Amino acid sequence: MSQRTRTRPDTSARALSEAYDTALLDLDGVVYAGGVAVAHAVDALKVAREGGMHLAYVTNNALRTPDAVAEHLTELGVPAVASDVITSAQAVARLIADQVPGGSRVLVVGGEGLRVALRERGLVPVESADDDPVAVVQGYGGPDLAWGRFAEASYAVARGLPWFASNTDLTIPSARGIAPGNGAAVEVVRIATGAEPQVAGKPLPPMHRETILRTGAERPLVVGDRLDTDIEGANVGGVDSLLVLTGVTDAAQLLAAAPKYRPTYVDADLRGLLTGQPEVAAGDGGFGCGGWTAAVRDGELVADGEGAAMDGLRALCAAAWTYAGDGTCGLDAGKALERVGL
Ligand SMILES: [Mg+2]
Repeated sequence: MSQRTRTRPDTSARALSEAYDTALLDLDGVVYAGGVAVAHAVDALKVAREGGMHLAYVTNNALRTPDAVAEHLTELGVPAVASDVITSAQAVARLIADQVPGGSRVLVVGGEGLRVALRERGLVPVESADDDPVAVVQGYGGPDLAWGRFAEASYAVARGLPWFASNTDLTIPSARGIAPGNGAAVEVVRIATGAEPQVAGKPLPPMHRETILRTGAERPLVVGDRLDTDIEGANVGGVDSLLVLTGVTDAAQLLAAAPKYRPTYVDADLRGLLTGQPEVAAGDGGFGCGGWTAAVRDGELVADGEGAAMDGLRALCAAAWTYAGDGTCGLDAGKALERVGL
């Protein structure tokens, strides 16, 4: 599916779970949503794991410790231990440890996940700008983070201390709607100080590096639901990716994606790990996949044929992305998506 030059393994007759040694799975919108497991996730991950694929869980959320995340996953029916979980707190702690002396004090505005990750790297979390910190770090602190914490960070940043952020996701989904994420909290301190933080989380290289260091993956496959974190992060890291449509991205957004956001593969949900992913073939009438042919005709994206909706979407991606080149496809995809059953 991807237009990139990196050669992907032949997955037309081989499951992704066999073609790649490690799945680097995003959590929200992929494994769970609003505290419950996403449809088919538990069973698909069980089969992939039993088939020998190593499963790792990669989250930009710095609030919870890997232990707490693993416990939650296990409760949902996805057995995991702390070492299977990689957080942006761990990535930012390594980023800080690379730049300050061992044993340094770091002012923390965030949750327990961040404090545990700093201690793991030999750093000392402190709570006040007057505790002689040498750096400031911000991570998602949950709904109870007090406004005064932003003041504390601002005092320290204004004194010229290096400032770090676990991630800059502006929002965080909750069972009751969309809440401000750590990116919004970072904006508060940015507005107060005019400074710029160093950021670790997806899609940036420190997070990818942390993930590869901790999993030892040789043929990793990033699995995610967000184009601008999961998929862009995979592309920045130079590894293949699977977009699942169980989270925030829908088929129309995928068709309109600029090259840096385009995944190697797409599927409806995590059952896509267990199947082959058919090649899309370019022909005279357009791009063929399964029983579908897709093309741009008279300024419109069109699909003809019949068969699995996902094959239709794969053919449409090839048509839209070829038409868009290095840009984004602005063509209306509504009718074509309806035609393939999406
Ligand atoms: Mg997600």
